[in-house]
Amino acid sequence: IQAQAAPVRDAEGRQVGAVVVLHDVTRLRRLESVRRDFVANVSHEIKTPISAIKAAVETLIDDEQMPVPARQNFTGIIARQTERLDAIIEDLLSLTRLEQEGATVSDEIEAHAVEPVIRAACETCHAKAQAKSITLKIEAEPLRAQVVPTLLEQALVNLIDNAIKYSPEDTTVVISAERRNDDAVLAVTDEGRGIEPEHLPRVFERFYRTDRARSRQLGGTGLGLSIVKHIAETMGGKASVRSQLSKGSTFTLTFRAGTQNAAAKPSTGSAV
Ligand code: ADP
Repeated sequence: IQAQAAPVRDAEGRQVGAVVVLHDVTRLRRLESVRRDFVANVSHEIKTPISAIKAAVETLIDDEQMPVPARQNFTGIIARQTERLDAIIEDLLSLTRLEQEGATVSDEIEAHAVEPVIRAACETCHAKAQAKSITLKIEAEPLRAQVVPTLLEQALVNLIDNAIKYSPEDTTVVISAERRNDDAVLAVTDEGRGIEPEHLPRVFERFYRTDRARSRQLGGTGLGLSIVKHIAETMGGKASVRSQLSKGSTFTLTFRAGTQNAAAKPSTGSAV
């Protein structure tokens, strides 16, 4: 708290009181500290691949006679670490765009059918799923949600991508959509390794990873879930997670369900 004080005087100039103004700067301080942490995290995340690239390039320059297999090893490192930098920058740009466009996005939120969006997201992830013999199964009610389809698709792609990354081969990832009261509830459920209870409350934080080395190895940036959360909140919804170790995880997105246009409304008022 910051305080400012000024004396209050009477007509003769005698001090008869004081005015004290207190400013609560806690929120401001917290924001500053979040920003500082974020910059430190970004710098660290970017520095790691850059150091690896630098070391590989220096080794290649120093040893002109290096045999081809060793040379390929170092160029492989450079290629992978460059991909990594690219992924980090791409995710950071996504976050920045979301932050900048957040205010205008609210004008574009409308009732949209969710099933086509789920299908599009599954198509994007199809090749990765296939590479691990993972089946993507859609269980969607014909349902509308108050969303921006492109953003919902991006959130779903991130969730399905994680489900594939953190699941063993020959498993199934279920993408479901159902109506619960006034909500449209979308969920991505995997049969993967699950998340320890102590990590669960933090997985939506920027750069938070339960296993840093493993996530890096799998090409993760640690930003995917923070983007998902941001997208959900930008559209007035929320993101949550349930998980059981070595059984699997369910990531859920909840939005307001879209109202149907009057002409198509069934007289029985079904769940659509
Ligand atoms: P990353 O790029 O590391 O995947 P995310 O923000 O997408 O970053 O996820 C944060 C962390 O949450 C991951 O590093 C991983 O530890 C955990 N996680 C995310 N999705 C899953 C999942 N489906 N199963 C198990 N762990 C997961």
